[in-house]
Amino acid sequence: MDSNTKRIAMQRIQTLFRLAKETIHEDPALAQRYVDIARKIAMAAKVRLPREYRRQVCRHCKSFILPGVNSRVRIKKRREPHVVITCLNCGKHMRIPLKTKKEQNSFE
Ligand SMILES: [Zn+2]
Repeated sequence: MDSNTKRIAMQRIQTLFRLAKETIHEDPALAQRYVDIARKIAMAAKVRLPREYRRQVCRHCKSFILPGVNSRVRIKKRREPHVVITCLNCGKHMRIPLKTKKEQNSFE
């Protein structure tokens, strides 16, 4: 797989996640379909989803989840700072360590 293929795959993934975000309020099923396609493209091109997108896909049920829509985000600052994302579709949690200041800010 050459780097051009990966680059194109990444662009399509970004577009699909953007569309999913724009669509989720009006048509959650369509938003989910966009994300499913994005995940398939990532797998086919052997690229990892960027971190910001990975946390928008429930690790357990693969739902497209957005804070304030169908997920709940809690920031734990004591000891090891981390974010807990609760998927309101399956009720399970994802725990994401916070390492950089930049990441922390993106949740505020
Ligand atoms: Zn879930």
